[in-house]
Amino acid sequence: MKSISILIAIDDGHGMNTPGKRTPYISSIGASIKENEFNREVVHRLNNMLKASGFQTLLVAPEEKDIPLSVRTNRANQAGADAYISIHYNAYNGHFSDNPNGIELYVYRGHLNKDAGRLAHSIGRYLKQGTKQYYRGVKEADFHVLRETSMIAVLTESGFMDHPKEALLMRETEFQNEVAVEHAKGICDFFNLPFKASSKRPWYVGRRIESIYEGELRFYSQPTWGNEAIAGYVQKGYGFPRIVDRVKVEGYNQYKVENSKGLSFYITASETYVKVI
Ligand SMILES: [Zn+2]
Repeated sequence: MKSISILIAIDDGHGMNTPGKRTPYISSIGASIKENEFNREVVHRLNNMLKASGFQTLLVAPEEKDIPLSVRTNRANQAGADAYISIHYNAYNGHFSDNPNGIELYVYRGHLNKDAGRLAHSIGRYLKQGTKQYYRGVKEADFHVLRETSMIAVLTESGFMDHPKEALLMRETEFQNEVAVEHAKGICDFFNLPFKASSKRPWYVGRRIESIYEGELRFYSQPTWGNEAIAGYVQKGYGFPRIVDRVKVEGYNQYKVENSKGLSFYITASETYVKVI
């Protein structure tokens, strides 16, 4: 088999606690959603899908802390990546009001009709499918990650953090997965590789989870730590028959679980409180 070696650098945009990069306070979940909660999940999934589809990948900022943009682009340049994909979520004015919404893609100034523009259109063609969102198109901008990268570079904004509906989409694991698939398909088309969904299923998916906590361990109706979303409590030795997913909530993991009736809840993934069986 002919071995190919296309290296895709993947960028999760910001650190988890980078100031400002979050939604306004959302009263229905009792929290703001950080941009990186979305970006990081998409990057994680996209990375698996691209590897399954035959690409090599480089995560330019796998650390939890914020990695400066110059370090991100230097890492990609030094590795000789063939393409740079920067995953973001848009913001308009930081308030929920009559804000714009929808999907936008960016390439560097003057690159709309070059390879970067073609790659962006290839990704955009898939991004506008699935969840119904306004498609704002491919635009040019003088962003650091587009300017300072020596390979073709595309920055995507899969929605607006300060648009009420799109803000809530950020924590939906199905939406995160859809966005990752759409990016992966667009990249595969551009490089003429057949798309393959990740063959790797995370170790915890499908397994039972039990409380090991002496006391009552809370679980939630939504991915939040807010008291108003507490759906109930489990005693030590009790739990849920099936883990569906793992999500980051304010920087800490929760498992999305199902009970025997197929209803979904969220519970801490901390090994101090639970064990996966
Ligand atoms: Zn961003």
